[in-house]
Amino acid sequence: MKKECVLVSGGAGYIGTHTTVELIGAGYDVVIIDNFSNSEMKAVEGVRQITGVEVPFEQVDTCDEAALRRVFEKYDFNSVIHFAAYKAVGESVAEPLKYYRNNLVSFMNICALMREFGRRNILFSSSATVYGEAEVLPVTEQTPRKPATSPYGNTKQMAEDILRDCCAAYDGIRGIALRYFNPIGAHPSALIGELPRGVPQNLVPYITQTAAGIRECLSIFGNDYDTPDGTCLRDYIDVVDLAKAHVAAVGRMTREAMKSDYEIFNIGTGRPVSVLELVEGFEKANSLKLNYKIVDRRAGDVPAVWADTSLANEELGWSADRPLEETLRTSWQWEKHVRGIE
Ligand code: UDP
Repeated sequence: MKKECVLVSGGAGYIGTHTTVELIGAGYDVVIIDNFSNSEMKAVEGVRQITGVEVPFEQVDTCDEAALRRVFEKYDFNSVIHFAAYKAVGESVAEPLKYYRNNLVSFMNICALMREFGRRNILFSSSATVYGEAEVLPVTEQTPRKPATSPYGNTKQMAEDILRDCCAAYDGIRGIALRYFNPIGAHPSALIGELPRGVPQNLVPYITQTAAGIRECLSIFGNDYDTPDGTCLRDYIDVVDLAKAHVAAVGRMTREAMKSDYEIFNIGTGRPVSVLELVEGFEKANSLKLNYKIVDRRAGDVPAVWADTSLANEELGWSADRPLEETLRTSWQWEKHVRGIE
């Protein structure tokens, strides 16, 4: 029987690589496209090494409609997972047009070509950032979205709306938006993981770089929030669990099991974890001590957000299983691999 084929845009990135590995493990063919704006060929090689499959790769910018069209002409996929996007919140505030252009033009190109070529299933990587500072926690998919506080966040909301409207208007197009909480960790092989350029903005890469001696000291942004230990609460989801959620969502689309043409799922663990708990968990999991200090709050941080995952659990038959301690071990294994630390 012919295998289902999935196009993965941004497939050389952090979540794209892990998702490709899980798709191949589940029996799909995958075509990766990436423009390497925030990734490297090494990541694709890592995927090939883990899977033992010479996964097809095309260096293509999804904003380049003509180049993307050639990918549609060359490969016979019926589903796309669209990861290719910029994701630095601060940079998006400084350079809004760069973000709107890249994140929206690329997605509209994908949607338009899916329609033109009669391909059916579009999976979009959205974010819990759409919930902003929610009044009721945990957040469900029904929790109202809050006005975005950055152009980055706005591109996630706008792309969700573009997908919703395309699914409503165009016969044969169906979509799922997965709203990720905080993806962390790496593949247990330590051959793929997150590779931030410059100073990491996210907590776990900052922690692992501090442990590796690249950063002197982790700054914890505020311990005077109205939370049990005063630091912010987040829902940290293992990237392999997150990757498996994509496999479940693609399966739902290809099995024709969707209940409407456009669906949204929260993808998290359902467990709130504080910054301090995460830091201490990292120390314990890896038997090391981390240099950290408490500093002022970071502008724009919400005090707490975590997922109600019942819908994904029930409808996708998926749940996050990897214990946090193991996830934090893989984060450190990956950092050591990248830095050549024994
Ligand atoms: N954080 C921190 N120090 C850092 C980076 C992040 O204390 O160097 C905190 C941040 O204030 C937030 C949590 O870690 O409470 C998660 O931040 P991250 O940027 O990883 O994800 P976000 O939830 O903001 O998207």
